[in-house]
Amino acid sequence: MIDVNITLKMISNIEAIPAFSDNYIWILINGNSAAVVDPGDASAVDNFLNENNLNLESILITHHHFDHTGGIIDLASKWNPKVFGPKGGHINGIDLELSENAKIEILDTEFCIFETPGHTLDHIAYYSEDIDSLFCGDTLFSGGCGRLFEGTPLQMFNSLKKFSDLPEETRVYCTHEYTLSNLTFALEVEPNNDDLKKYFEEVSTLRDSNKMSLPSSISLENKINPFLRTSIEEVKANAENYANKKDLQPVEVLATIRDWKDNF
Ligand code: ZN
Ligand code: FE
Repeated sequence: MIDVNITLKMISNIEAIPAFSDNYIWILINGNSAAVVDPGDASAVDNFLNENNLNLESILITHHHFDHTGGIIDLASKWNPKVFGPKGGHINGIDLELSENAKIEILDTEFCIFETPGHTLDHIAYYSEDIDSLFCGDTLFSGGCGRLFEGTPLQMFNSLKKFSDLPEETRVYCTHEYTLSNLTFALEVEPNNDDLKKYFEEVSTLRDSNKMSLPSSISLENKINPFLRTSIEEVKANAENYANKKDLQPVEVLATIRDWKDNF
């Protein structure tokens, strides 16, 4: 007998493994196979794999910070996964270095790579149209963006633009639970944004019962995230007020509200 059953095998489940105080290690699952994004803590991932009878096939790394890379070596020696990450040879344990527009297949699901410098210079993000999902590390957070430790405001602006242009339904998997504090700041920048006020209430309720606020979506972030809204009049006006300058361009608005948030 010939089996004519064609099953579209793809990643069917994405879960969060909490780590440290506010990190999420996203685990992507297809059958008994798994991939993890930014495993800062090997033991948290090990426990999840064992409890759920999963085999770790791939590790995806977004940037070099220790809370995203600390578990690579341990996990690699136990599970022998393929390890993907940014180019540059500076992260121990990477098997395949990726650059802009690279396409990789993870658990029968295609991902496209974006270079997204700003938070760090090596930062990359993983986008899959197959499953409408973006793994953006510390570049985009719900309601905010990463601190500019290495890159310039212009680099961050261009990186965020790549995300805001993605299909609206794209789910956004960020690495930290920073949403509520980001929204508290966002309301200072845009106090008259009704979508933002509503989302703040929703996230407050979730966090009161210790539930995670993620994933977000591109459509939501485009409506509430001031770092994606640097052309919006109220964001611009309040940035100009903070900087005590006139006629700020969108990149300067981003630089100003990033500086404002750093001192908030
Ligand atoms: Zn980081
Ligand atoms: Fe981080």
